[in-house]
Amino acid sequence: MKLRVVYPGSFDPIHNGHLDIIQRCADHFSQVHIAILQNEEKETLFSVAERLEMIQELVKGYPNCQVSSFQGLLVEYLDQVNANIIVRGLRAVSDFEYEFQMAMMNRHLRPGIETIFMVPAEEYTFVSSRLVKEVARLGGDVSRLVPPLVTEALKKKFRS
Ligand code: ADP
Repeated sequence: MKLRVVYPGSFDPIHNGHLDIIQRCADHFSQVHIAILQNEEKETLFSVAERLEMIQELVKGYPNCQVSSFQGLLVEYLDQVNANIIVRGLRAVSDFEYEFQMAMMNRHLRPGIETIFMVPAEEYTFVSSRLVKEVARLGGDVSRLVPPLVTEALKKKFRS
């Protein structure tokens, strides 16, 4: 069966927990669309173009993964790429409530769409973009939480 999935997120920045989920998707699904949410109301550290470039570089070895950005409703993006499965990562019970609401809302908007949840390797269950940025901003070592190109990009951001 050919399964085409969309893995949406802010990815500001992408970290090893996200990459763990992407790797699992690449192993199990025929086509993986990594979709960067362009949300004007949310202030981000990295621009959409910067996030796109970083993720493209990191997944270039996966022939079944592609990266793009989208604005507006996720279900409309799924229509555009002809996918009907949304993948979301679950770290802890605290993620569940929000994710559950989103899944139900997306089903309300498009009854044919399914949301599936994947859990990362144990060592990434505490990693979030928010904490990575906070630690990097204060000069802490994030090199085991993000790939080297993201470590460099964070250093550059916080130097300037
Ligand atoms: P969003 O703003 O949509 O939550 P994020 O970039 O924070 O975007 O996360 C994108 C997706 O990746 C979400 O489903 C989130 O739950 C998941 N995710 C975030 N951090 C991790 C992690 N450490 N392990 C697994 N999944 C994660």
